[in-house]
Parts: sequence; C-alpha cells; structure tokens
Amino acid sequence: MKKNIKSTEKESGTENKSNTSGSHQYTEREDSRTGLSVETLKKAISNNLFYVQAKYPEIATRNDYYMALAYAVRDRLLQRWVASVKQYIQGKERVVSYLSAEYLLGPHLANNLINLGIYKEVEQACEELGLNLDWLIEKEVEPGLGNGGLGRLAACYMDSLATLEVPAIGYGIRYQFGIFEQDIRDGWQVEDTDNWLRRGNPWEIARRELSHDVKLGGHIQHYIDRSGKFCSNWIPELVVKGVAYDTPILGYKVNTANTLRLWKSEAPHSFDFQSFNAGEYNNAVNQKIICENISKVLYPNDEQREGKILRLQQQYFFVSCSLQDMINIHLNQGEKIEDFDKKFAVQLNDTHPAIGVVELMRLLMDEHLLDWDTSWNITTKTFAYTNHTLLPEALETWDLELFGSVLPRHLELIYEINRRFLDFVTVRFFGDNQKISNLSLIGEGKRKHVRMANLACLGSHAINGVAALHSDLLKKTVLHDWYELSPEKFSNKTNGVTPRRWIVLSNPNLTKLISEKIGEGWIKDLEELRGLEKYADDPEFQQAWMKVKLDQKKALAKKIQKRLGVKVDPESMFDIQVKRIHEYKRQHLNVLHVIALYNRIKKNPDLEIVPRTFIFAGKSAPGYRKAKLIIKLINSVGEVVNNDPDVRGRLKVVFYPNYNVTNAQKIYPAADLSEQISTAGKEASGTGNMKLSLNGALTIGTLDGANVEIRECVGEENFFLFGLTADEVAQTKAAGYKSKEYYESNAVLKEAIDQINSGYFSHLDVNTFKELTDSLMYDDQYLLFADFQSYIEAQEKAAEAFKHKEMWAKMSILNTARMGKFSSDRSIKEYCDEIWKVKSVPVEIDSIKIIEK
Ligand SMILES: *Cc1c(COP(=O)(O)O)cnc(C)c1O
Repeated sequence: MKKNIKSTEKESGTENKSNTSGSHQYTEREDSRTGLSVETLKKAISNNLFYVQAKYPEIATRNDYYMALAYAVRDRLLQRWVASVKQYIQGKERVVSYLSAEYLLGPHLANNLINLGIYKEVEQACEELGLNLDWLIEKEVEPGLGNGGLGRLAACYMDSLATLEVPAIGYGIRYQFGIFEQDIRDGWQVEDTDNWLRRGNPWEIARRELSHDVKLGGHIQHYIDRSGKFCSNWIPELVVKGVAYDTPILGYKVNTANTLRLWKSEAPHSFDFQSFNAGEYNNAVNQKIICENISKVLYPNDEQREGKILRLQQQYFFVSCSLQDMINIHLNQGEKIEDFDKKFAVQLNDTHPAIGVVELMRLLMDEHLLDWDTSWNITTKTFAYTNHTLLPEALETWDLELFGSVLPRHLELIYEINRRFLDFVTVRFFGDNQKISNLSLIGEGKRKHVRMANLACLGSHAINGVAALHSDLLKKTVLHDWYELSPEKFSNKTNGVTPRRWIVLSNPNLTKLISEKIGEGWIKDLEELRGLEKYADDPEFQQAWMKVKLDQKKALAKKIQKRLGVKVDPESMFDIQVKRIHEYKRQHLNVLHVIALYNRIKKNPDLEIVPRTFIFAGKSAPGYRKAKLIIKLINSVGEVVNNDPDVRGRLKVVFYPNYNVTNAQKIYPAADLSEQISTAGKEASGTGNMKLSLNGALTIGTLDGANVEIRECVGEENFFLFGLTADEVAQTKAAGYKSKEYYESNAVLKEAIDQINSGYFSHLDVNTFKELTDSLMYDDQYLLFADFQSYIEAQEKAAEAFKHKEMWAKMSILNTARMGKFSSDRSIKEYCDEIWKVKSVPVEIDSIKIIEK
C-alpha cells in the first residue's frame, strides 16, 4: 500500500506539467482518479479491475476488462459532470429540457474517449497492459432505447448541446428492454429481447434518493375549498414511483458534461410482509409487477402509433417525473413557481411527451395553486414542439375512454382547455365549422379521441418541422389550420448529425486524411470541410481518398463474410440502403432494380456491367406484415442472385442483420452509393442520408426530406435525382393513379413482378410474396411503379459515373466538403437562438474544486 501511495505522489508531479488546466493544482486524490497520462490510465484500469470487478489479470474475462476500463473513463467524466451540474442547475441560466420517449445512443466508451481527447492514450495504456482497445470497445452492449431516426436525433442533439456548452437535461425512459435484436432465419425476421442491462451498465448512476410519485387511473373528487374555489382531488387507482438513472453526456473537448436522466418505474414502497395476510400479499406483489411493467419495454413501432394503455402510461410516467423534477430544481434554487418558464425551455420530441402540456397545467393549478390564466401563460411559454411525420397513420391520438381511464384529471383539464380555445376560434373563424372541428383537441368520428398533435400545437409557443420541405408541407397539410391560426409559431429546423460519432469515431482513417489537409477545426465547425473543395481535382488526394473508402469496404466485406458467409468484392460498387424497413422508404423499389439487373445478365451473360454489392439492413416493426415480407424478399432474391453461376459474382445482395448504431458505424463509411428513395412527401427529413454523404457516398434519391437540401449543398451534378416531386405525387394520386397501367406498359417492370409471382425467388411457391405484389398492383400507395423507370435510369447514370474513377472520387470529395450544414451543432444553434433563447455557459475547470468539499 505504502509503495502505491508513493508512486502516485511521484506521478502527480509529472501530471501537472502535461495537463493544460492552468493554475489549478492537482491533489493526489484527483490525480489517481482523473489523470490522463498513459501511466495513470494504466493504473486506473488495474485498480478498477481489482477494486470494482474484484478480479486479477489471470482470471479476468474480457467483460471484466471492459468494465474496468469503462469505470476508469467514467471517473474522468465525473469531475466535469459535477462541475457542470453545479454551474447549471444551481445557477441562474435557462436550461434546455429535452423530452424524448427515445434515445438511440449507441455505445458510450469510444465516444467518451474521443470527447475526452484520450483515445490514443487509452489505446497505448491497453496495449501496455496486453489488451486490445478495439476488442474491449466491441464488448459494450449498446443502449438501444429508440427505434430509428427520431431516437438517434435525440442522441445527436445531446452531444451537440454538451459540445456547444449549453445547459441541458435530456429526460426519457430507462427501458429495461430496448429495441429487439433482429435475427434472420430462413430469410425471415425473428425478434429476440434486448437484455442490454444483463451485465450491468457502468455509464449510469442510480439516484435512489431522487424519485417522484406518479398517479394513474382512479377518479376525481370535486369540492369547494374555504375560499370558495372549485377544486379537484385526484384519487388514483395506482401510484408508481419513478427513480432517476443519470448518464453523463460529455461534449467534445470541453468541460461540459450534461445529464441524461432516465426514469425507471417501481412500486412506491417496499412491503411490510407481516402486515399482509395472504390475499393482500398477492395483491401487493401484483401491484409491484404492474408498476415495474411501465418502464419494462420500448414499443418497437417506427412511424406507426400503438394505441395501447401501457404506451400512454409510459408517456405520462416519464413526462410527469420530468416536470416534477424541473419544478423541484427550480424551487430548490429559491425561485418562484411563477418564473418556471424562465428557468426551463422544454422541447417536445414529437407528440410522445405532449401530455406534458396538461401535466404542467395540473401541477401548477392543483399542486402549486396558481390560477388558470397564470398557469396557461407559463405553460405555453415553456413548451415548444417538433413534428416528425407527415404520415397520417403516425399522428398520435388516444381513444377518449381509454385516456380518461388512465388520466381522469387530465381529461377534465383537456375539456376545459378545449372549451376556452373553441370559444376563441369560433369568434376568430366564425362560420367555418370544418376549421373549428379540425382544430379541436377532441376528434369525433366513430369513437371520440384526444388529438396529441393539436394539444402540442396549442400548448407550445413554437412549432417546427425537421427539413425545409417537411416544414413547408406541414403548413400546407397536416398542420394547415394551425398555421392559419398562428403563423408566427412556425419555423424550420433542419436535422443534423454529430460529426464526432459519425465521422471521427466511425471513420478514423477519413478523419486523419481530412485533418492532414485542413486541420482539426472541422470537428467543431463542420463548415470548415469546405476547405477540401480545392483538393477535389488533386489526383494524389483523390487516390488517398479512394484508398480510405476501399479500406472501409474491405473491413465491411470481412464482417459480412464472418456474419453471413457471403463473399463480396470490395472493388464492386457498395450500393447501400440501411434504415427501418417501411413501405414508404421503398426498399422493395431497390429490390426491383436488383431483379432488373439480374434479368439483364440472364439474357446476356457477357454483358459489361458495373459489379455491385447491394447491402440492406433494418428492422421491421414485429407486427408489420408487409415490411417483414420485404425483408424476406430481399433475402430470397439474394439467395438466387448470389448463387447463380451466370452472374459470376458481379451482383451480390446481402441483408446485414440487427441494424443498430454499432452496425451503422461500420456500414455508413463503406458506402459508395446511398439509397434515399422514399416517396416524395413522406420522409420528414432523414439523417441516414446525411451520415452517408458526409462519409463520401453519392446519393441516389428523390426530392424528399433533407435530400432536397443535401442536393442543393453538394450540387445537382453530384447527386443522382429521380422520381416524382411531392406535388406531382399528390397530383398523380388525385388524378386516380393506377399502378397496373405502369406494369402493363413497362416490360422490365412486368417481368420482375411476374417473376416474383411465379415463385422464381421462393422455391416455386407462388404465394410467398402475393400480399406484397398485390398491394403494388392494386393499391400502390407509395408509387413504386410510377417512379420505377426514372429510378432505373438514375441507376444507369450512377453505374456510368462509377466507371470513371477520377470523376467519382471528385464527386465523393465534394459531397463531404459541402455537407457542413448538416452538423447537429448547426441545428442546435438554431434551436438555441430562435426557440429556446439560451446561451452557452462554459464550465470553469476551477469549479472542480467542489470535489474536495
Ligand atoms: C441514422 C440512423 C437511423 C435513421 O436513418 P434514416 O435513413 O434517416 O431513416 C436509423 N437507425 C440508426 C441505427 C441510425 O444510426
């Protein structure tokens, strides 16, 4: 022991010189826990292995070492985190509160190493301990607490908020089971549970002492209080406790570490066994199970609402905990409840947390005894709402009866909010009954329902879409009446992605090449990538650029070989479509192109054709039959194409299973061609399109979502455009679109569909894909057939371009160079300036002294 202390003392001397924290003197304790030198890191890993994992090297498993390293890194986050919390939560600054039912974070370890700026040091420390860092990084099970783009956006925004040193808390649900793990058996998707916590989670800190009670169900008692005020008392059927689990989110090379606070549901109190008789005991155990169920599992639907009672309970549970938490923080600072909106800017990530509007009203009125007008004023100044979808089937509504059974008090409040609102709009739009009924918070129809988008619009001072086209269409379609009522609320905030995870972490070779040319400033100011433009014609740079791409493709090819036993040629064009499987995203249009190419080869086996590897990945909602059939179709076509000797390996089709952040990080950097082929007017923004283009892929795409802006930025000559515009889609449908006519008049399309129907890809079973082909023939809602010919022609252009290696390299470089706009830092700056009205608050490293208190 004595020897240990001595060596630590010795080290603290060397540590001081290498650290840039200025005048602050490191104490011995800080040094061993927080030092960043290779020697100190080695010691920290060894210490954690012994003191946390209780293992010594001879018996330690790979997971033990992963945990030891993770805790060593976490120690280095904590001082920044504590300093940030002190400065923000106890300070006077306005704090962003991001409410999201989903966070698709991806693994933490490597990201934290990059943001701490100690990747190299840890790599060396591991090496000297006889460990391989990559091998430990791969051991981390990612927290898959989201479905796709929406949850991943929340994760990118947390990274950017911290990097921009903006005080922020992310609130959400600590699902015990995240998005299911996908396996492919006999070409079909099968789901397995995501037990991501089974080996423990070193990145979270359970705050047992920090909890809030949430009421559910029951009924309302009305009474008149002493002052003659009409009051409501909610007698719940069930009370659930929400316990806070905090994860630090560190910014890139700054001291700011914000908090992601996720709520776990539990029964309110442990049981006093002796006080129960047998019947009550069973009852108590049942209650406990019901409570714990609320944060048990993430609903695996993307762009599809799930009208289940548990889903509503989840939404209300996390929103109530979060708002109670914010009010606590605010009041603990000695502030007045009336000033709540000055402390917190609350962003609703879609309508999932929209019940917050009513919950804040309830808390202010029922718990804090403010009057209606004061409460409503605070509420609308607090909330802002981001819409994420134009698909009518994804707009959330709740059956009124179900809603009232879970949230009786909130239903009362909604009636009252709606009564006052409709009084107002009836005057404003006198006689326009259609408009008035469109704006109502309650929808009529077969069964009455609560409209969450209307609630979010009414209760917010700002409403935004997530790409220019999407924000425009919102005003024209789903939120048209709201736009006419309050045009000043509307704005656009085009999505972005964090370059830290999506370039620096996932594509280190590209990072190195870029930084050699233009320095490292682009990592925090992505517009600096434009400095690459002047090298786009430089043959040497082109070669280096394409070498990086080829190496990424080789690495992915290796993974594919290992995972699927399929050999793919890294020199072939990697044509990639990875995203949730959905009819509007049109993976099946991509498959029709594959079949068309295959048939071309079959007719003329000696045809000169650009070899391609088609890579698909993505999960389908478990109950979404047609999406599951699309997965089966991809695999079935792959089986035929990959094994047909006539093809001679020139075409390969692979479905990479279990698309998640970990796999995405391997796939995006290896793409030559990015498939962004949704029906125009359906994809709100997309962020996969951004990640791919940033990594030098060229896009083949429609004028949908952020594709429009990507094309404007990279230049139309560097983008393969096809398909109908959103306006043309609407016109085509209005004119009575008949997909069968396209089938009859396009021989290539007809052949492909007939072939699927003949059983050619399904061992002669003519029924396997019938549901899918029938829907295309008779009810092609997403206009695959209308866009087919245009798509085939754009693919021919892409193939032609790929033959000209210098031209392709130039186009690829220009894609990356001109994508600076699509950093989530830019998005977050716009939210801060225009919606939240918050500023950066740099965290002083000196405040780390509070650790010594
Ligand atoms: C970026 C991302 C998405 C969203 O992809 P889109 O192509 O925009 O639909 C979904 N899942 C994961 C894992 C991602 O990283």
